[in-house]
Amino acid sequence: MAEMCEHILQAGDPEPRTEGCEECLKMGDTWVHLRRCLSCGHVGCCDSSKNKHATKHWRATQHPVVQSFEPGEDWLWCFKDEVFVDERPSADEARV
Ligand SMILES: [Zn+2]
Ligand SMILES: [Zn+2]
Ligand SMILES: [Zn+2]
Repeated sequence: MAEMCEHILQAGDPEPRTEGCEECLKMGDTWVHLRRCLSCGHVGCCDSSKNKHATKHWRATQHPVVQSFEPGEDWLWCFKDEVFVDERPSADEARV
């Protein structure tokens, strides 16, 4: 079984607040890939993007878990524990 942490097990599923990186849209900048914060729905750009807003959002807010916002990608990542999972755990796993 994949390594898991409590943050991923308890992660919510908020509506994305924006269609692109919230900060980059304000700045008129561009990004490579997008991550959605599962605490508040913030959408930020990944570490391959020059502004790294998803990581900055984690540092600023301590919201630990992001999910890929790319079409066809469902993986989750916990910044705090550095845990990566391919997809959201099932309800059975989340109840433990
Ligand atoms: Zn965690
Ligand atoms: Zn950005
Ligand atoms: Zn957040």
